[in-house]
Amino acid sequence: MEDIRELYQEVILDHNQSPRNFGPLETTTHELEGINPLCGDRLKLYAHLESDRIVDIHFEGSGCAIFKASSSIMTEIIKDKTTQEAEKLFHQFHELVTTGKGEIESMGKLAVMAGVHQYPARVKCASLAWHTLKNILDKSNETVTTE
Ligand code: ZN
Repeated sequence: MEDIRELYQEVILDHNQSPRNFGPLETTTHELEGINPLCGDRLKLYAHLESDRIVDIHFEGSGCAIFKASSSIMTEIIKDKTTQEAEKLFHQFHELVTTGKGEIESMGKLAVMAGVHQYPARVKCASLAWHTLKNILDKSNETVTTE
């Protein structure tokens, strides 16, 4: 278990230091903000949807390492997915960070967030980008807040 935990730690550090898909998108169909007042994480999510496919997704913002790493990993995983697949991943991710359980083998890089359930205050940091994405999928224009 120790090795896996170290590997997870490395992936999180890497995404925190060099977040992927960071910065505005030139062509967007959706832009939505998310705030986690408890920790001070702030996010803006940019998405480019064509019919039911998420063609591109970027984020920008500032906050803690878990927030930044989780948002970065989310954009990598969600890019090129259909909205139905993204919806399913949202629920898998939510179960993973609240219970530590799920089909971890099939979750790829998302699995690095499994340890977050042990730190309830961090669940909101890890989930902020996902909740913002969910609002986009639900066609809501309301700023997301975790409080
Ligand atoms: Zn945070």
